[in-house]
Amino acid sequence: MNNIEQQRYFSRELLDWYGRSKRDLPWRRHRNPYYIWISEIMLQQTRVDTVIPYFNRFIEKFPTVEALADAPEDEVLKCWEGLGYYSRARNLQHAARQVKEQYGGIMPSGKEEVFGLKGVGPYTAGAIRSIAFNIPAPAVDGNVMRVLSRYFLIEEDIMKGSTRAHMEDLVVRLIPEGRASDFNQGLMELGALVCTPKSPKCLTCPVMEHCAARLEGKEESLPIKTKAKPPRPEYRVAALVEGTGEYNGKVLIRKRPSTGLLAGMWELPHISLSQGKETAPISLPDEAAMDRLAGELKTEGIPIRPVGHLMDAEHTFSHIHWNMRVFRCQWRDISAGSLQAAESAAAYAAVYKDTVEGNIDVEAGTANSSEPQYRWISQSDMAFYAFPNVFLRILNQYFTSE
Ligand code: SF4
Repeated sequence: MNNIEQQRYFSRELLDWYGRSKRDLPWRRHRNPYYIWISEIMLQQTRVDTVIPYFNRFIEKFPTVEALADAPEDEVLKCWEGLGYYSRARNLQHAARQVKEQYGGIMPSGKEEVFGLKGVGPYTAGAIRSIAFNIPAPAVDGNVMRVLSRYFLIEEDIMKGSTRAHMEDLVVRLIPEGRASDFNQGLMELGALVCTPKSPKCLTCPVMEHCAARLEGKEESLPIKTKAKPPRPEYRVAALVEGTGEYNGKVLIRKRPSTGLLAGMWELPHISLSQGKETAPISLPDEAAMDRLAGELKTEGIPIRPVGHLMDAEHTFSHIHWNMRVFRCQWRDISAGSLQAAESAAAYAAVYKDTVEGNIDVEAGTANSSEPQYRWISQSDMAFYAFPNVFLRILNQYFTSE
C-alpha cells in the first residue's frame, strides 16, 4: 500500500468507525459554536467524565455568549471551581465580551477572527472552526499527535513546533471533502477511547490493518516526547484564622489579586517561604514558620497568633508544586495587636456581614475597594466564593472535622 492509499484508508475507516461509535456528549447534540467553544476549553487537561457536569452547569447558568459576557467574574469563577486552570475561565469571559462587542454576539468562523479571541490557540481555533462550521481546519492536540505518530510512524518529537506544523499539514490532507467536523471529532475520539497513551487497544482499532507502528511493534514507544521540566517546588505556610465572638465558627479568607496565578479567587491568608524563582525552596521548623507567618500577615493588617499545626496540603500547577503547611491561628485581641489592623479587619467583616448575612447574591470584590479583601465565612458561605482546589480541600476538611 502506498502513502496515498494508506491515508485514504485511514480517513475512510475513521469516519465509518466514528459514525458507529461516537459517544453521546452534551456539546455534540447541537452544532452550537458557543457550546463547542466552552467544551473545548473545559476539555483541555481535563477528562470528559469530569467536564460533563461542569459543562451542563455552565451552559445552564450562562446559556449564551451575551450571558457569559455580562456575568460578574466571580460567578464565572465559581462555576469553574474545581476544574483548575482558572485563567481559562477568565479568558473565556474576556473573549465572550469580544464576541459581543465586535461580532454582535455571533461567534465568528474566520481564521483571523477566531484566533483573535483571548485564550483561543491553534488547537481550539481549529476545533471550533471544524466542528461547528465544518471548515477543513486542523485541530491538533496531544491525543491527535499520538494517533498520527503511531499510524504513520512519525518518529519526531511532538513537543517541537515543527512536528506540530507537519501534523497540521497532514490533517488538512486527510480531511475528506465536506467531512471536517466528523473527521476531527473522530480523530479525537480514537485518541481518547482506542489509541490511548498506555496499552492502546489495537485489536479493536478501526485502522489497525495499516497502522505502521503496530506493524513494526512500536505502538507503545510512540509518540516521541521530550519530558517537560518538573514543577518547581514552593513551600507555603497558611493561616486558618478562627473567629471569636460575633465570628465564632467562622474563618478568615482573603481574595487574591486580580492578576497573576489564581487571579480573583479566594484563599486562606498565607505566605511563601521560597525565595524567588532561581533559589532553592526553604522549609522551616514549625516554630520559625509560625513566627514568620504572624510577622508577615501583621504587615498586611492581619493580627494573628498561630497556635499549632493543623494539616498539610499539596497542589501541583503546570509549573509549580505547592507544599503547604496550615496552622490553626487565633485572632489577636486588639490590645495585643495593632489597633489599625484590627479596625481594618473589622471593616472587612462588616462588609461581609452586609452581603452574606443579608442573604444577597454576593458580588465579591465589588463590596470593598480596598486590596486585599477579607471575609469571615462559615461552611455554608463557601457557596458564595470561588476557591482553588487546594483551599477547597483544606476548608472542607476543617469544617467537617470541627
Ligand atoms: S492500531 Fe493501535 S497504535 Fe495503531 S492507531 Fe490503532 S490503537 Fe493506535
